[in-house]
Amino acid sequence: HVKDNGRNGYGFYERGLTTGLTERMSLEAELRKVVERGELELYYQPKVDLLCARSAGCEALLRWRHPSLGLLTPDRFIRIAEETGIIVEIGGWVLRTACEAAVRWNRGGWADFTVAVNLSVRQFLGHDLAGEIQAILAETGCRPEWLELEITENLLLEDRDETRATLGQLRDLGLKLAIDDFGTGYSALNYLARFPIDILKIDRSFVQGIGRDESSEKLVRGIVSLARSLHILLVAEGVETAGQAAYLQQIGCHLAQGYLFAKPLSEEQLVSWYKQYRQQPLPGTLVEP
Ligand code: C2E
Ligand code: MG
Ligand code: MG
Ligand code: MG
Repeated sequence: HVKDNGRNGYGFYERGLTTGLTERMSLEAELRKVVERGELELYYQPKVDLLCARSAGCEALLRWRHPSLGLLTPDRFIRIAEETGIIVEIGGWVLRTACEAAVRWNRGGWADFTVAVNLSVRQFLGHDLAGEIQAILAETGCRPEWLELEITENLLLEDRDETRATLGQLRDLGLKLAIDDFGTGYSALNYLARFPIDILKIDRSFVQGIGRDESSEKLVRGIVSLARSLHILLVAEGVETAGQAAYLQQIGCHLAQGYLFAKPLSEEQLVSWYKQYRQQPLPGTLVEP
């Protein structure tokens, strides 16, 4: 009797474990081929300038059009790609594709329309990232000022010589560096003085507290004055309501991104969004008199 229970329990556990493992192993095997199979896509989420109701470039967000599972967002596969190192190849594809798009947009008349690319810590280690980016810029004809790189606080907190050197080289190439999800890491603010940071992106957890809790509002105001005194540009992530946009505009955070303005869009959708937005800014953006 006791033995049976034990066997059942073990069997249940084992089944759960193998399902998870099998799934992960097949995703991993498929991930190794995503680039050659052409299954990756970039979506682009616009950033807007609340003051002059102008579009202020966009962020490239990765999607995997999986043959049977449909369109997957990064939470389904980025961790596996990072842990296996596949992210280095995928990240190269993302950089090249984003640069090609930036060239199309800027040559097509969208002046100084930037694209921001998210980078994983792994892309900085054991591989010449700055050299790779320099080659991609040269091959695509993308100007350095059209490309922004989004990194996370973790990368700076590890503070390796290798990372520090790479960030310096990227800066020398003329690229802008943004800290993503600002305020969610173990913020040791001294890194802001030690690294060449141009942009802070306020994490959406604070933005979404606007109008709901006072401590989020205080934090956001604190970040605004911090950024202002360090001459760092601010972008608010995850703006969903006109109230949040109005608050941000009022306290001096003029760049924003979020579902209020646009979700991540296919390139075709971005083109029509851009045309429409220029004619008639969406609610939440104020046109200066
Ligand atoms: P992130 O860089 O912080 O990107 C913002 C995420 O918030 C995106 O999710 C976006 O779709 C979502 N978002 C934007 N506006 C709103 C809003 O108003 N409300 C809410 N609730 N969400 C909003 P997504 O596309 O699923 O990407 C998730 C994360 O995956 C990104 O966070 C980024 O860290 C990572 N990621 C995306 N693309 C790449 C890539 O090419 N390479 C690497 N290494 N990571 C990537
Ligand atoms: Mg980002
Ligand atoms: Mg973010
Ligand atoms: Mg985020």
